[in-house]
Amino acid sequence: MTQQPIIKVQNLKKYFPLRRGLIGFLKGAPIRYVKAVDGISFEIKKGEVFGLVGESGCGKTTTGRLILRLIEPTEGRIFYNGRDITRIPKKELRPLRRELQVIFQDPYGSLDPRFTVASIIEEPLIIHKIGDSSRERIELISKALEEVKLTPPEEFLWRYPHQLSGGQRQRVAIARALILKPKFIVADEPVSMLDVSIRAEILNLMEELREKYGLTYLFITHDLAVARYFSHRIAVMYLGKIVEMADSDTIVENPLHPYTQALIAAVPEPDPSNREKRREIKIKGEVPSAAAIPPGCRFHPRCPYAMKICKEKEPPMVEVEPGHQVACWLYAKA
Ligand code: SF4
Repeated sequence: MTQQPIIKVQNLKKYFPLRRGLIGFLKGAPIRYVKAVDGISFEIKKGEVFGLVGESGCGKTTTGRLILRLIEPTEGRIFYNGRDITRIPKKELRPLRRELQVIFQDPYGSLDPRFTVASIIEEPLIIHKIGDSSRERIELISKALEEVKLTPPEEFLWRYPHQLSGGQRQRVAIARALILKPKFIVADEPVSMLDVSIRAEILNLMEELREKYGLTYLFITHDLAVARYFSHRIAVMYLGKIVEMADSDTIVENPLHPYTQALIAAVPEPDPSNREKRREIKIKGEVPSAAAIPPGCRFHPRCPYAMKICKEKEPPMVEVEPGHQVACWLYAKA
Protein backbone atom coordinates (compact mmCIF):
# COMPACT_ATOMS: atom_id res chain seq x y z
CA MET A 1 0.00 0.00 0.00
CA THR A 2 1.36 3.46 -0.87
CA GLN A 3 0.63 6.71 0.95
CA GLN A 4 -0.69 8.27 -2.23
CA PRO A 5 -4.47 8.59 -2.33
CA ILE A 6 -6.22 7.03 -5.30
CA ILE A 7 -9.54 8.57 -4.18
CA LYS A 8 -10.01 11.83 -2.34
CA VAL A 9 -13.41 13.15 -1.36
CA GLN A 10 -13.91 16.71 -0.10
CA ASN A 11 -17.06 17.93 1.61
CA LEU A 12 -19.21 15.66 -0.57
CA LYS A 13 -22.97 16.18 -0.42
CA LYS A 14 -25.94 14.56 -2.08
CA TYR A 15 -29.41 15.96 -1.39
CA PHE A 16 -32.45 14.36 -3.01
CA PRO A 17 -35.48 16.68 -3.35
CA LEU A 18 -38.76 15.39 -1.91
CA ARG A 19 -41.96 15.65 -3.90
CA ARG A 20 -44.15 18.44 -2.55
CA GLY A 21 -47.51 17.16 -3.83
CA LEU A 22 -50.04 19.35 -5.60
CA ILE A 23 -51.25 21.22 -2.51
CA GLY A 24 -47.71 21.94 -1.34
CA PHE A 25 -46.80 23.10 -4.86
CA LEU A 26 -49.83 25.40 -5.08
CA LYS A 27 -49.16 26.84 -1.64
CA GLY A 28 -45.52 27.42 -2.62
CA ALA A 29 -44.22 25.23 0.23
CA PRO A 30 -40.40 25.08 0.26
CA ILE A 31 -38.79 22.02 -1.29
CA ARG A 32 -37.51 19.62 1.35
CA TYR A 33 -34.49 17.45 0.83
CA VAL A 34 -33.31 14.02 1.93
CA LYS A 35 -29.73 14.70 2.92
CA ALA A 36 -28.34 11.28 2.04
CA VAL A 37 -24.70 12.42 2.17
CA ASP A 38 -24.10 15.63 4.05
CA GLY A 39 -20.52 16.86 3.80
CA ILE A 40 -18.03 14.01 4.08
CA SER A 41 -14.28 14.05 3.45
CA PHE A 42 -11.81 11.19 3.32
CA GLU A 43 -8.95 9.72 1.32
CA ILE A 44 -8.35 6.14 0.20
CA LYS A 45 -4.75 5.15 -0.38
CA LYS A 46 -3.63 3.01 -3.30
CA GLY A 47 -3.92 -0.67 -2.39
CA GLU A 48 -6.02 0.02 0.68
CA VAL A 49 -9.32 -1.52 1.77
CA PHE A 50 -11.36 1.35 3.20
CA GLY A 51 -14.46 0.17 5.08
CA LEU A 52 -17.55 2.39 5.18
CA VAL A 53 -19.80 1.17 7.96
CA GLY A 54 -23.24 2.17 9.19
CA GLU A 55 -26.88 1.17 9.46
CA SER A 56 -29.02 1.06 6.33
CA GLY A 57 -29.97 4.54 5.14
CA CYS A 58 -26.82 6.20 6.54
CA GLY A 59 -25.59 7.22 3.07
CA LYS A 60 -22.83 4.66 2.49
CA THR A 61 -24.24 3.28 -0.80
CA THR A 62 -24.93 6.82 -2.06
CA THR A 63 -21.28 7.65 -1.30
CA GLY A 64 -20.11 4.71 -3.44
CA ARG A 65 -22.40 5.75 -6.29
CA LEU A 66 -21.16 9.34 -6.10
CA ILE A 67 -17.51 8.29 -6.30
CA LEU A 68 -18.29 6.14 -9.34
CA ARG A 69 -20.13 9.15 -10.84
CA LEU A 70 -23.30 7.07 -11.23
CA ILE A 71 -25.13 10.02 -9.63
CA GLU A 72 -24.23 13.70 -9.56
CA PRO A 73 -23.16 15.30 -6.29
CA THR A 74 -25.01 18.32 -4.92
CA GLU A 75 -21.75 19.81 -3.62
CA GLY A 76 -18.15 18.86 -2.92
CA ARG A 77 -15.34 17.37 -4.97
CA ILE A 78 -14.11 13.91 -5.94
CA PHE A 79 -10.52 13.30 -7.03
CA TYR A 80 -9.27 10.14 -8.72
CA ASN A 81 -5.48 9.81 -8.86
CA GLY A 82 -5.18 13.54 -8.23
CA ARG A 83 -7.61 14.50 -11.04
CA ASP A 84 -10.84 16.30 -10.20
CA ILE A 85 -13.56 14.07 -11.69
CA THR A 86 -16.52 15.77 -10.01
CA ARG A 87 -17.96 17.37 -13.11
CA ILE A 88 -16.09 15.84 -16.03
CA PRO A 89 -18.33 15.25 -19.06
CA LYS A 90 -19.72 11.82 -19.97
CA LYS A 91 -17.30 11.46 -22.92
CA GLU A 92 -14.33 11.69 -20.57
CA LEU A 93 -15.99 9.40 -18.06
CA ARG A 94 -16.03 6.38 -20.35
CA PRO A 95 -12.30 5.50 -20.12
CA LEU A 96 -12.53 6.07 -16.37
CA ARG A 97 -15.35 3.55 -16.05
CA ARG A 98 -12.87 0.81 -16.95
CA GLU A 99 -10.76 1.73 -13.95
CA LEU A 100 -13.59 2.28 -11.47
CA GLN A 101 -15.78 -0.79 -11.03
CA VAL A 102 -18.49 -2.00 -8.68
CA ILE A 103 -19.54 -5.27 -7.09
CA PHE A 104 -23.13 -5.20 -5.86
CA GLN A 105 -24.67 -6.76 -2.80
CA ASP A 106 -27.17 -8.91 -4.60
CA PRO A 107 -25.67 -11.33 -7.12
CA TYR A 108 -29.23 -12.53 -7.84
CA GLY A 109 -30.37 -9.07 -8.87
CA SER A 110 -27.16 -7.85 -10.52
CA LEU A 111 -26.80 -10.76 -12.96
CA ASP A 112 -29.40 -10.79 -15.74
CA PRO A 113 -31.15 -14.21 -15.52
CA ARG A 114 -31.67 -14.28 -19.30
CA PHE A 115 -27.96 -14.32 -20.09
CA THR A 116 -25.30 -16.99 -19.74
CA VAL A 117 -22.20 -16.41 -17.62
CA ALA A 118 -20.21 -15.86 -20.85
CA SER A 119 -22.56 -13.12 -22.10
CA ILE A 120 -22.72 -11.44 -18.68
CA ILE A 121 -18.94 -11.13 -18.50
CA GLU A 122 -18.63 -10.35 -22.21
CA GLU A 123 -20.89 -7.27 -22.00
CA PRO A 124 -18.28 -4.87 -20.50
CA LEU A 125 -15.72 -6.13 -23.05
CA ILE A 126 -18.09 -5.23 -25.90
CA ILE A 127 -18.93 -1.84 -24.36
CA HIS A 128 -15.24 -0.99 -24.03
CA LYS A 129 -14.33 -2.56 -27.40
CA ILE A 130 -11.91 -5.10 -25.94
CA GLY A 131 -11.13 -8.26 -27.95
CA ASP A 132 -11.35 -8.36 -31.75
CA SER A 133 -13.43 -11.51 -32.02
CA SER A 134 -15.86 -13.52 -29.98
CA ARG A 135 -13.20 -16.22 -29.68
CA GLU A 136 -10.68 -13.77 -28.26
CA ARG A 137 -13.27 -12.51 -25.75
CA ILE A 138 -14.14 -16.07 -24.65
CA GLU A 139 -10.44 -16.61 -23.92
CA LEU A 140 -10.39 -13.50 -21.74
CA ILE A 141 -13.62 -14.58 -19.99
CA SER A 142 -12.22 -18.06 -19.33
CA LYS A 143 -9.13 -16.49 -17.78
CA ALA A 144 -11.31 -14.28 -15.57
CA LEU A 145 -13.32 -17.33 -14.44
CA GLU A 146 -10.09 -19.07 -13.51
CA GLU A 147 -9.04 -15.99 -11.50
CA VAL A 148 -12.23 -16.25 -9.42
CA LYS A 149 -11.77 -20.01 -9.12
CA LEU A 150 -14.71 -21.10 -11.24
CA THR A 151 -12.81 -23.97 -12.81
CA PRO A 152 -12.71 -25.50 -15.27
CA PRO A 153 -14.19 -22.43 -17.01
CA GLU A 154 -15.91 -24.52 -19.73
CA GLU A 155 -18.17 -25.88 -17.01
CA PHE A 156 -19.45 -22.41 -16.13
CA LEU A 157 -19.35 -20.41 -19.39
CA TRP A 158 -22.74 -21.53 -20.70
CA ARG A 159 -24.63 -21.76 -17.44
CA TYR A 160 -27.38 -19.31 -16.45
CA PRO A 161 -27.33 -17.50 -13.09
CA HIS A 162 -30.09 -19.75 -11.69
CA GLN A 163 -27.83 -22.75 -12.28
CA LEU A 164 -25.21 -21.34 -9.90
CA SER A 165 -25.00 -21.16 -6.09
CA GLY A 166 -24.99 -17.75 -4.34
CA GLY A 167 -21.20 -17.91 -3.89
CA GLN A 168 -20.64 -18.86 -7.54
CA ARG A 169 -22.88 -15.99 -8.67
CA GLN A 170 -20.84 -13.52 -6.61
CA ARG A 171 -17.66 -14.95 -8.17
CA VAL A 172 -19.18 -14.25 -11.61
CA ALA A 173 -19.94 -10.66 -10.47
CA ILE A 174 -16.30 -10.30 -9.35
CA ALA A 175 -15.06 -11.73 -12.68
CA ARG A 176 -17.22 -9.19 -14.53
CA ALA A 177 -15.72 -6.34 -12.51
CA LEU A 178 -12.21 -7.73 -12.88
CA ILE A 179 -12.21 -8.33 -16.62
CA LEU A 180 -11.67 -4.63 -17.33
CA LYS A 181 -8.54 -4.62 -15.14
CA PRO A 182 -9.86 -1.93 -12.78
CA LYS A 183 -7.78 -0.04 -10.24
CA PHE A 184 -10.53 0.86 -7.79
CA ILE A 185 -13.59 -1.21 -6.84
CA VAL A 186 -16.63 -0.20 -4.82
CA ALA A 187 -17.77 -3.42 -3.13
CA ASP A 188 -21.25 -2.70 -1.81
CA GLU A 189 -22.17 -5.31 0.82
CA PRO A 190 -20.62 -8.02 -1.39
CA VAL A 191 -21.10 -10.85 1.12
CA SER A 192 -24.15 -9.85 3.13
CA MET A 193 -26.54 -12.01 1.07
CA LEU A 194 -24.31 -15.06 1.19
CA ASP A 195 -24.30 -17.94 3.67
CA VAL A 196 -21.91 -17.36 6.55
CA SER A 197 -19.90 -20.40 5.47
CA ILE A 198 -18.95 -18.85 2.11
CA ARG A 199 -18.50 -15.22 3.18
CA ALA A 200 -14.89 -15.77 4.24
CA GLU A 201 -14.16 -17.58 0.95
CA ILE A 202 -15.36 -14.60 -1.10
CA LEU A 203 -13.53 -12.08 1.10
CA ASN A 204 -10.34 -14.16 0.89
CA LEU A 205 -10.68 -14.26 -2.89
CA MET A 206 -11.12 -10.47 -2.99
CA GLU A 207 -8.04 -10.06 -0.81
CA GLU A 208 -6.01 -12.39 -3.03
CA LEU A 209 -7.02 -10.34 -6.09
CA ARG A 210 -6.19 -7.09 -4.29
CA GLU A 211 -2.68 -8.31 -3.57
CA LYS A 212 -2.15 -9.75 -7.04
CA TYR A 213 -3.39 -6.70 -8.98
CA GLY A 214 -2.78 -3.90 -6.47
CA LEU A 215 -6.52 -3.19 -6.30
CA THR A 216 -8.07 -0.65 -3.95
CA TYR A 217 -11.51 -1.26 -2.43
CA LEU A 218 -14.17 0.92 -0.92
CA PHE A 219 -15.84 -1.78 1.15
CA ILE A 220 -19.40 -0.86 2.13
CA THR A 221 -21.01 -2.89 4.89
CA HIS A 222 -23.39 -2.67 7.84
CA ASP A 223 -21.37 -5.34 9.65
CA LEU A 224 -18.49 -4.03 11.77
CA ALA A 225 -17.08 -7.51 12.39
CA VAL A 226 -16.82 -8.14 8.63
CA ALA A 227 -15.38 -4.64 8.10
CA ARG A 228 -12.67 -5.28 10.66
CA TYR A 229 -11.79 -8.63 9.10
CA PHE A 230 -11.41 -7.15 5.62
CA SER A 231 -10.54 -3.43 5.94
CA HIS A 232 -7.34 -1.56 6.79
CA ARG A 233 -9.24 1.54 7.89
CA ILE A 234 -12.88 2.12 8.78
CA ALA A 235 -15.12 5.19 8.63
CA VAL A 236 -18.38 5.00 10.57
CA MET A 237 -21.31 6.87 9.01
CA TYR A 238 -24.44 8.10 10.73
CA LEU A 239 -27.23 9.96 8.91
CA GLY A 240 -25.05 11.18 6.05
CA LYS A 241 -21.97 12.14 8.12
CA ILE A 242 -18.76 10.36 9.05
CA VAL A 243 -18.65 10.33 12.85
CA GLU A 244 -15.42 8.38 13.42
CA MET A 245 -12.50 7.19 11.31
CA ALA A 246 -9.40 5.20 12.23
CA ASP A 247 -7.55 2.01 11.41
CA SER A 248 -9.74 -1.06 11.85
CA ASP A 249 -8.22 -2.36 15.08
CA THR A 250 -8.44 1.07 16.74
CA ILE A 251 -12.10 1.48 15.78
CA VAL A 252 -12.98 -1.90 17.29
CA GLU A 253 -10.69 -1.84 20.33
CA ASN A 254 -10.92 1.84 21.22
CA PRO A 255 -14.16 3.27 19.79
CA LEU A 256 -14.70 6.85 20.95
CA HIS A 257 -17.94 8.02 19.39
CA PRO A 258 -20.99 6.78 21.34
CA TYR A 259 -22.56 5.54 18.08
CA THR A 260 -19.46 3.47 17.21
CA GLN A 261 -19.46 2.13 20.78
CA ALA A 262 -23.08 1.06 20.36
CA LEU A 263 -22.32 -0.66 17.04
CA ILE A 264 -19.41 -2.53 18.65
CA ALA A 265 -21.56 -3.53 21.63
CA ALA A 266 -24.02 -5.12 19.20
CA VAL A 267 -21.33 -7.39 17.66
CA PRO A 268 -21.31 -10.82 19.38
CA GLU A 269 -18.00 -11.36 21.24
CA PRO A 270 -17.07 -15.06 21.34
CA ASP A 271 -14.29 -14.59 23.93
CA PRO A 272 -15.88 -14.04 27.41
CA SER A 273 -12.71 -12.33 28.73
CA ASN A 274 -13.09 -9.63 26.06
CA ARG A 275 -16.77 -9.06 26.82
CA GLU A 276 -15.95 -7.34 30.10
CA LYS A 277 -13.54 -4.91 28.44
CA ARG A 278 -16.28 -3.56 26.21
CA ARG A 279 -18.02 -0.30 26.94
CA GLU A 280 -21.69 -1.22 27.22
CA ILE A 281 -23.80 1.51 25.74
CA LYS A 282 -27.49 1.53 25.04
CA ILE A 283 -28.81 3.95 22.46
CA LYS A 284 -32.40 5.12 22.37
CA GLY A 285 -34.95 4.88 19.57
CA GLU A 286 -34.58 4.56 15.83
CA VAL A 287 -32.45 6.40 13.28
CA PRO A 288 -34.34 9.64 12.40
CA SER A 289 -35.32 10.32 8.80
CA ALA A 290 -32.63 11.87 6.57
CA ALA A 291 -35.36 14.36 5.57
CA ALA A 292 -35.59 15.67 9.15
CA ILE A 293 -32.05 15.65 10.51
CA PRO A 294 -31.89 16.79 14.16
CA PRO A 295 -30.05 20.08 14.77
CA GLY A 296 -26.62 20.15 16.41
CA CYS A 297 -25.13 16.68 16.70
CA ARG A 298 -27.46 14.54 14.60
CA PHE A 299 -26.98 11.65 17.05
CA HIS A 300 -28.15 13.65 20.10
CA PRO A 301 -31.74 12.32 20.35
CA ARG A 302 -30.32 8.80 20.80
CA CYS A 303 -27.12 9.57 22.72
CA PRO A 304 -26.92 8.77 26.45
CA TYR A 305 -24.19 11.44 26.90
CA ALA A 306 -25.97 14.31 25.11
CA MET A 307 -25.21 17.74 26.60
CA LYS A 308 -26.71 21.18 25.96
CA ILE A 309 -24.19 22.04 23.25
CA CYS A 310 -24.94 18.78 21.42
CA LYS A 311 -28.47 20.01 20.66
CA GLU A 312 -27.24 23.37 19.38
CA LYS A 313 -23.99 22.97 17.48
CA GLU A 314 -22.66 20.32 15.15
CA PRO A 315 -19.42 18.85 16.55
CA PRO A 316 -16.33 19.29 14.33
CA MET A 317 -14.20 16.33 13.29
CA VAL A 318 -11.07 16.35 15.49
CA GLU A 319 -7.97 14.18 15.44
CA VAL A 320 -7.59 12.66 18.90
CA GLU A 321 -4.48 10.67 18.03
CA PRO A 322 -2.62 10.24 14.74
CA GLY A 323 -5.05 8.80 12.19
CA HIS A 324 -7.99 8.62 14.63
CA GLN A 325 -10.68 11.23 14.06
CA VAL A 326 -14.00 11.65 15.80
CA ALA A 327 -16.88 14.13 15.58
CA CYS A 328 -18.24 14.42 19.12
CA TRP A 329 -18.34 17.22 21.73
CA LEU A 330 -16.85 14.83 24.30
CA TYR A 331 -13.53 15.25 22.46
CA ALA A 332 -13.76 18.74 20.90
CA LYS A 333 -13.48 22.24 22.33
CA ALA A 334 -16.62 24.34 21.98
FE1 SF4 B 1 -23.43 12.34 22.05
FE2 SF4 B 1 -22.99 14.95 22.15
FE3 SF4 B 1 -21.09 13.33 21.26
FE4 SF4 B 1 -23.27 13.78 19.82
S1 SF4 B 1 -21.71 15.28 20.35
S2 SF4 B 1 -22.32 11.84 20.17
S3 SF4 B 1 -24.82 13.93 21.41
S4 SF4 B 1 -21.93 13.40 23.32
